[in-house]
Amino acid sequence: MHADHMLDLVTLRYVYPWRARPRHERLRVVMPPGSADQLLDLARGAGNARHFEDSFRLSEHDGSSSMTFGGLDMRPIETVHFIPCWGFRMDANGRRLAYTADTAPCDGLENLADGAHLLLSEATLRTLDEDAQPPERRGHLLPAEAGETATRAGAKRLLLTHLPVDDGAEWARRDAAATFDGDVAVAEPNQSYEV
Ligand SMILES: [Zn+2]
Repeated sequence: MHADHMLDLVTLRYVYPWRARPRHERLRVVMPPGSADQLLDLARGAGNARHFEDSFRLSEHDGSSSMTFGGLDMRPIETVHFIPCWGFRMDANGRRLAYTADTAPCDGLENLADGAHLLLSEATLRTLDEDAQPPERRGHLLPAEAGETATRAGAKRLLLTHLPVDDGAEWARRDAAATFDGDVAVAEPNQSYEV
């Protein structure tokens, strides 16, 4: 529920139902446990307490149970960040996509990425000094730590995201490749990736 991950809901809301969609078609939005009040504050800030209700079907996950979307099974797994945070392990047709969300190195990551065909991992830090108060208080990963996670979990491929710069991030790919033998790439906008 940090703003870089959810603030776009404020404007995305105008697509539903205004852009050639029947009124009953609302996007399903699943939030972390306990975040409904935060979204209500945001709605009030946008000038209307019902800002989201007419456009989205809002609900919260419970922090551990799988959710099913069509043939996709999506399980939240808690990570370690500056606020409560969950990554997701997604399974469909015998293939697994794991998404770390924002996280420091933690036990949950290995479970999250266990045998993943594609691990989509945050790699926010260029140096450890950029984290909150390392080593005691951490909230993000170095690219090398994303690679270590992929190796320990037996993931097949690693895709890096949530990078702080827009320079192609070859440095990040190289650092992650030093700790992971599989295929490593930096996620690019508007690209599709097959799992
Ligand atoms: Zn973030």
